Amino acid sequence: MFPGMTVTRRLLRWTRTAASFQRETAAASPGIVPLAQQADAWEQPLYRGPMWRETQIGPEIALVREVDGARLMFGQGPRHLGAPYGERAANILRALSPVAGGLRWGEQIHGRVIASLSPEPGGTLSGVACVGRCDGLVTDEAGLGVIVWTADCVPLLIAGGDVVAAVHVGWRGAAAGIVPTAVHRLEVEYGVAPQDLLVALGPAVGLCHYEVGPEVVRALEECGVPTNQWCSGGRVDLRRLAAGQLVGAGVEAGRIECVGGCTACEPDLASYRRDGVAAGRQWSLAVLRR
Ligand SMILES: [Zn+2]
Repeated sequence: MFPGMTVTRRLLRWTRTAASFQRETAAASPGIVPLAQQADAWEQPLYRGPMWRETQIGPEIALVREVDGARLMFGQGPRHLGAPYGERAANILRALSPVAGGLRWGEQIHGRVIASLSPEPGGTLSGVACVGRCDGLVTDEAGLGVIVWTADCVPLLIAGGDVVAAVHVGWRGAAAGIVPTAVHRLEVEYGVAPQDLLVALGPAVGLCHYEVGPEVVRALEECGVPTNQWCSGGRVDLRRLAAGQLVGAGVEAGRIECVGGCTACEPDLASYRRDGVAAGRQWSLAVLRR
């Protein structure tokens, strides 16, 4: 088989439209009214994706978008546990050269700690490394890529004002407020106004596969986003919740993009809900181009 054929088929599965998303949600969950109908104020921008193109990064496939001097990327799979993060990051860095000269990620713990990364005066941050416990990373250093690893949680990438960020958003992180914390951090520490940000929400478990207990819904209700925008019939759409949090933090709805489908539905994506401890991890990366 020609490699290109595989790529094209995967692309078609990945860049689904709002209409197909609603059809699939309805088909997978009879009786559930698609949330899009209840949240039409930001339904259209949320499921927009034509600016994203597919590319090969070493042995892996990623969706890529260039914006404001930054490159945002959502890597695919592997479905099952693969090489250690350091090894994968080294492969990614090699493929991204010379755009990126270093990659960093955090030991994700479902909290709201966000690390700001900048080199010592006169120095650079090169190579690949885990920076310790955090669920988000921000940098204004050109060529330093920030990564989060996910398998159902929401990978959230931010670009704007010569700053990029990558944030890992599970339900605990969302309830802890990591989404508005990231927006606030960019404003107070880097002087980037929320309305100047572009935010992309990558592949994550969808409403179709994310049934949760009432204690989770109660915790998420504390986020202040109207429940009917992200919860239906005991199921939760974390990306819609995150989008509501972003809008509440001042990000323009038209600058929030949703990329890729439900991780549990898509056979090529890693999903903890579907595969448990055998699940691999998607990588999501933001970098300011050098
Ligand atoms: Zn699904």
